[in-house]
Amino acid sequence: MPNLIVAKFGGSSVADYAAMSRCANIVINQPAIRVVVVSACSGVTNLLVDITQFSSVEARLSAFRGIEDITFAIIAKLQQIELISQQVNTLLAQLKAIITQPEHKFTAAEKDEILSFGERLSSCLFSQVLLEKAISACCFDVRQVMHTDSHFGKAEPNISQIKLACSEKLTPLLSQSIVVTQGFVGANALNQTTTLGRGGSDYSAALLAEALNADIVQIWTDVIGIYTTDPRLTEQARCIKEISFDEAAEMATFGARVIHPATLLPAIRQNIAVFVGSSREPESGGTWIAKDVADRPAYRAIALRRSQTLITLKSPEMLHAAGFLTRIFDILSRHDISVDLVTTSEISVALTLDQGGMTTAFSSDIDAALTELSRFCDVSVERGLSLIAVIGNHLHSSQGVTGELFSTLEKINMRLICHGASKHNLCFLVQDAEAVTVIKQLHQSLFAA
Ligand code: ADP
Ligand code: ASP
Ligand code: MG
Repeated sequence: MPNLIVAKFGGSSVADYAAMSRCANIVINQPAIRVVVVSACSGVTNLLVDITQFSSVEARLSAFRGIEDITFAIIAKLQQIELISQQVNTLLAQLKAIITQPEHKFTAAEKDEILSFGERLSSCLFSQVLLEKAISACCFDVRQVMHTDSHFGKAEPNISQIKLACSEKLTPLLSQSIVVTQGFVGANALNQTTTLGRGGSDYSAALLAEALNADIVQIWTDVIGIYTTDPRLTEQARCIKEISFDEAAEMATFGARVIHPATLLPAIRQNIAVFVGSSREPESGGTWIAKDVADRPAYRAIALRRSQTLITLKSPEMLHAAGFLTRIFDILSRHDISVDLVTTSEISVALTLDQGGMTTAFSSDIDAALTELSRFCDVSVERGLSLIAVIGNHLHSSQGVTGELFSTLEKINMRLICHGASKHNLCFLVQDAEAVTVIKQLHQSLFAA
């Protein structure tokens, strides 16, 4: 029997009162769940991101009203609304005060403050749903324990500080009540609010599980586990019952948004089993992610990341010149741009940047980096590409497997291919418009046995 489970409910799982109520039943049915991490109600973070981007107060207020509607619809279904209305109205008033400053361009710190309101509202509402089901629950401000650096939009957690703060401030509460807290949100050393990057609530749950020595992290979402590919792309996708940490980490990194890419880091460090299931159908089981799994097939899954940008940098200077790549990566790093795939030839380098991804809430300044790069090499930019990754085991060394894979890929019109750096993946780029067809073909060849 597990002693302590941290359960995380994603945006669609807490989208409205009925969804929250289903999640509350999951919590009630498992006494080991003592910590509940919630995302913002579905759609709310997107509205908050819009607010940070709008310059007109009118447009910001219109998005704000969208958030009010979602929030008040949940309150309308509650029984004891006095205290909760007060708490919610205080939060909404704080948000409104920030976003109604005219002619104001938000700083990165203010943007994170704004984004945090989604989870602050949903956690408040969810603890009330639990209370109304006669469960002792409290809403805990995660900023007391989720210590991060000051990289707003994609803050790095400070593992040792989180552990210390959790044992001082969170553990003592667990014997008295279920603690409901916010995913995605943290605070820096100056107590300014930070966020962990889009989709970061999964990561928050895993970080808290690590700090609290939990046995299991449960990720409750809108699909009944991790599939061989995004089930929205092909009806042939199959749910995987058991998958290793490293395979799941590769899937997440290459776009399987069912879990945030960093989620498995704390789980691996502390050997905590991760469960992914559907809050709509908890009885349907789900996927277990663990260190040791019985089956390690050559092909495990196919992941897709759309809206990739391919940059090709060309310069005769690169021929035999040491330090050319260093120069390029130095510029990209100064502009906070992370690179995914890299291939090189004698005088050129091609690299992909993830532009539509779930890493940070704010986009990096690519144009400024490109201007700097164009001072010493020819720069060409292609957008509208999709990165497809085949994830599996020993893809780098097994001759038969690689041969089979390449013959499947033969018919695909691809722009770039990367293979060999990891034994767990083979990645390539295709045009966005062709991606789904390619995934369907590939899935049929690799998994339809
Ligand atoms: P939540 O709001 O619960 O965090 P997300 O939308 O972030 O949920 O993640 C769930 C979604 O991930 C699913 O609806 C599905 O479309 C998508 N997804 C992508 N790849 C996979 C995969 N391999 N298996 C399952 N779901 C996947
Ligand atoms: N609410 C945040 C987002 O939409 C974090 C999360 O849901 O995991 O990105
Ligand atoms: Mg998610």
